[in-house]
Amino acid sequence: MAIMKQWQKTGYPARLWHSIANGAIQCELCPRACKIKLGRVGTCKMRRNEEGKLVTLNYGKSVPMTQESIETEAVYHYAPGERILSLGNIGCMLRCDFCQNWSTSQARYVQDNNVAYYSPEEVVNYALKHNIRVLSWTYNDPIVWHEFVMDTAKLAREKGLKNLYKSAFYISEKGIDELLTVMDIFSISLKSMQDSFYRKHTGGRLRPVLDGIKQVYDARKGTNYPHLEVSNLCVTERNDSLDETRKVSDWMLKHLDADIPLHYVRFHPDYQYTHVERTSIPFLEQARLQAISDGMRYVYVGNVFDTTSANSYCPECQTLLVKRSGLIAEPHLDNGHCPSCHFKTSIIMPWEKSNADKQSVTIPDGLICIHHTFRGPVQACHIEQVNESEIFYQFVAKDGSPVGTINSNSCTRFMLSKSDAKSTGIRLYHRENEPCQLFEVYDRAHFPVTEVEKTHQGSENVPVTFIPLKGR
Ligand code: SF4
Repeated sequence: MAIMKQWQKTGYPARLWHSIANGAIQCELCPRACKIKLGRVGTCKMRRNEEGKLVTLNYGKSVPMTQESIETEAVYHYAPGERILSLGNIGCMLRCDFCQNWSTSQARYVQDNNVAYYSPEEVVNYALKHNIRVLSWTYNDPIVWHEFVMDTAKLAREKGLKNLYKSAFYISEKGIDELLTVMDIFSISLKSMQDSFYRKHTGGRLRPVLDGIKQVYDARKGTNYPHLEVSNLCVTERNDSLDETRKVSDWMLKHLDADIPLHYVRFHPDYQYTHVERTSIPFLEQARLQAISDGMRYVYVGNVFDTTSANSYCPECQTLLVKRSGLIAEPHLDNGHCPSCHFKTSIIMPWEKSNADKQSVTIPDGLICIHHTFRGPVQACHIEQVNESEIFYQFVAKDGSPVGTINSNSCTRFMLSKSDAKSTGIRLYHRENEPCQLFEVYDRAHFPVTEVEKTHQGSENVPVTFIPLKGR
């Protein structure tokens, strides 16, 4: 950890840049192509010109790594239900005023107690120790700590792990070329099909994002065959019209193909855009049906708990292929084929056995029990503990009766999602001298932190997420 903290002071040698006149340099990582004078930083504030060389200021500087499920990342067609290890960093190349992860993406809000320091070896060893087979580069935007992602992803591959890249994809062609050497799965968030939307609300441009998605898609023709899914966050009163969502599906049909999964994702009001409602669910359902009738074969509604539009169905005979409830997935495939008509779906099952949490265990005697009731639209939570001791949990209904099996987890931070609409709360069991804390997660891929949100006022739509727990 000491060496990792040291990199924050001196900087870690950056990739993708070249010298220009008078000691200045030009960064080649994202389409901004910042020209950076001696001693200055680029727009993302994470890359600095240090005596004529570009260094990155956030190597290994992370939010606490968290065990989640692959559905969290809008990835529905690769190992459904798989446990993943999610890592996010600080900063972003975009400045979306509606950002769903602003407390980590906008570096000025980040508090020290929400930051951890890791080496590539620590991340990979942690995943191996906890039998997690996919590293997920996510939350703020992984582009902004490219060097750490590349080093760790390479090591992970050497150890037999897979890498997932969840990003708004404001990255250069050269950056993508590098990613294609180590990434197995891309989940790309396309904000809008309007360049004016990108310029006004994100500080970026549309063209590089579309070119980047196409670059990944075209790479699938080679021997390296990255998995690709696209999501479109439908922001209330900004791009939540059927004209807008049709532009996304039309572009995918024209430039990609009908089998690439498309997710229309529900927005929650956040950051500088809080005076509106969450995206209307009937609208998202309509957008999905429209895209399917236009020819897309796998279209999903995201961030909506209680909908059949998160399930996967066979496009030929409509048989249920994967049932999803919240972030829990139950596949019913026959080696990637429809069990009824044997159609070869685009759902990849890379492992014979699922890695999802499904065990039913017995709770040892003498543990402290904590009960937490979920509020409003919240359907999931992060549990955080200092050590890697075993925590047991079970969801419960309003009358206190158990829902589903008893499970356990020993990761330092892990996500739990309700698997059944009957669940209204959760019971956690931990050792007296090994306390834990709970953060509510109101949407997938949202990373709750302690300091900022503790002081946030909160509302039904944007609840305060950090919940101090009391045993009873
Ligand atoms: S990553 Fe993008 S924003 Fe950051 S310094 Fe490089 S070109 Fe500028």
